[in-house]
Amino acid sequence: MALHRSNPRSNDLEEHAIGETVDALVSPLPRTTFPQEYRPALTTFNLLKEELLLDGNSKQNLATFCQTYESQQVAELMALAVDKNLIDKDEYPQTAEIERRCVSMMADLWHAPGEAVGCSTIGSSEAAMLGGLAAKWRWREHRKAAGQSIDRPNMVCGSVQICWTKFARYWDVELREVEMTSGELCMSPERMLEQVDENTIVVVPTLGVTYHGLYEDVQAVSQALDELQQRKGLDIPIHVDAASGGFLAPFCAPDLAPWDFRLPRVKSINSSGHKFGLAPLGVGWVLWRESRDLPEGLVFHVSYLGGDMPTFQINFSRPAGQVISQYYDFVRLGRDGYQAIHGASYANAQYVAQELKKLGPFELINDGNPAGGIPTVVWTLRADQELGFNLYDLSDRLRLRGWQVPAYPFTGELAHQAFQRILVKRDFSREMADLLLTDIRNAITHFESHPVKISLNANEAASTNHLGRSMVECRDAHG
Ligand SMILES: *Cc1c(COP(=O)(O)O)cnc(C)c1O
Repeated sequence: MALHRSNPRSNDLEEHAIGETVDALVSPLPRTTFPQEYRPALTTFNLLKEELLLDGNSKQNLATFCQTYESQQVAELMALAVDKNLIDKDEYPQTAEIERRCVSMMADLWHAPGEAVGCSTIGSSEAAMLGGLAAKWRWREHRKAAGQSIDRPNMVCGSVQICWTKFARYWDVELREVEMTSGELCMSPERMLEQVDENTIVVVPTLGVTYHGLYEDVQAVSQALDELQQRKGLDIPIHVDAASGGFLAPFCAPDLAPWDFRLPRVKSINSSGHKFGLAPLGVGWVLWRESRDLPEGLVFHVSYLGGDMPTFQINFSRPAGQVISQYYDFVRLGRDGYQAIHGASYANAQYVAQELKKLGPFELINDGNPAGGIPTVVWTLRADQELGFNLYDLSDRLRLRGWQVPAYPFTGELAHQAFQRILVKRDFSREMADLLLTDIRNAITHFESHPVKISLNANEAASTNHLGRSMVECRDAHG
């Protein structure tokens, strides 16, 4: 059919656009070999944008601890900083100053006694590497000075996030993980003491254990190590993995027993800015109590306004926008703002926990109490029930409605039992909570009339729920 040409110029454009569109409709994007030809920007952009729809919707990703909401202002700050390299302290001195202010504010938040030192990282994983390395170097210097062997360092922790498994493997440190028992979900001081010796470089309690969100008792661990020092003379430092808790406890659990630099034994702390620090993805933090807790040999110097600035990081080039946005969040929200936002998340977590309890088959492991852990709800199936489904099946069923609610095993004695968890974050509103609860009720009703003959297991759930992989990978993905 002939095209009508009442306005030749615009129709030329349109015809061109139709041609491009039709081409794009019948040819897939290059996938394996590096393409020879260039393509039109707009259709390429649109094809890619449409392909990404299959990623699903981050608001329904209740598996991740990371932020899935950012304000308009943060989006603009990120765009403004898109060309800034954080390492170029000399070129972008104001960004360097902003990073310094953030460290200073966290030192205040976590009660550093004097001049704490610290830096931004790409996340808590890099922060854990740096905190762990500093501990290893301090231990080594100390042992060398005493003429003792330095070939068998170990670290002691509870059921940790995979970044500590990585730290231990990458830097040749033996990981001594105090696994869970049915009565003990967190590392107890007693079982920690059984693991430590003169080669222990550091003990790492977690403020917000990845599996269940509960806070390990840093003060109790610290006191146990104080007594050990009195008895045996061993002085073992603590690094706190406060990936989530570092930006929750100060605002929402003011009466929590000291867990931060108020305890002299705590030499370093990491936290994820992009989790409850509310910054966009790509920023974590690590702080040392005092500059002498960060061995000079690990520090590199970059030029900065003709002078020099000490840096400690694994990456060189890094985006600056996340650090700038973190500062924006700090000054925009203040303590009151963080308390209000996270308070709403705890309230929504508690609501979901109550409603889940009413359904009958679930036993709550974490019901969102701010004094005990992070805003998460964790449950398992009560043992006395024959239900026609397990939690992997439920997770699978919820995926039909777009929800990512992972099911996974714990560690130790609980390595064969399934648990399920949602992270309640800033953009998980009461409205969303009700929608999720309705979908859980509907799923249970569905399983009543269609009981599962052969349930999914932890590994099979992997193919249907990419966040519920085998245990080790799953810890990683949940980060
Ligand atoms: C998320 C998490 C990590 C890893 O943090 P990233 O910022 O994702 O690198 C480490 N430890 C704990 C306890 C976590 O929850």
